[in-house]
Amino acid sequence: MKDCLFCRIIRGEIPSKKVYEDDNVFAFEDINPQGPTHVLVVPKKHIRGLKEAAPDEAELIGRCHLAAAELARQRGIEDGYRTVLNVGPHAGQSVFHLHVHLIGGRPLKWPPG
Ligand code: AMP
Ligand code: ZN
Repeated sequence: MKDCLFCRIIRGEIPSKKVYEDDNVFAFEDINPQGPTHVLVVPKKHIRGLKEAAPDEAELIGRCHLAAAELARQRGIEDGYRTVLNVGPHAGQSVFHLHVHLIGGRPLKWPPG
């Protein structure tokens, strides 16, 4: 997608602090971190959000989660972290390219706001 912020980050047109990349998945530091670890894990394929995802994109979404789990392992935050997808504007989705937030490194309250 030409004008999508995260597609542009994946293509390197907008700088980011990349922390992981493979053929399908790209991960980078959130610009406004909500904890000591706040990474965004995104599919390289443009998917608008979870509610727009198709059945044949299930594996890709799983890969994003597993990449988040591996990053959490590497960072030693496995005593407690959260993987979150904000779905739709009322849940705070502001970028319409599916992304998993990996947040951790501090105690996390439940339920989230
Ligand atoms: P959401 O509100 O769930 O759509 O999440 C979008 C996230 O993208 C927010 O946590 C923002 O801080 C983050 N964000 C926006 N622009 C950038 C950027 N240029 N680089 C890294 N993260 C960004
Ligand atoms: Zn995109």
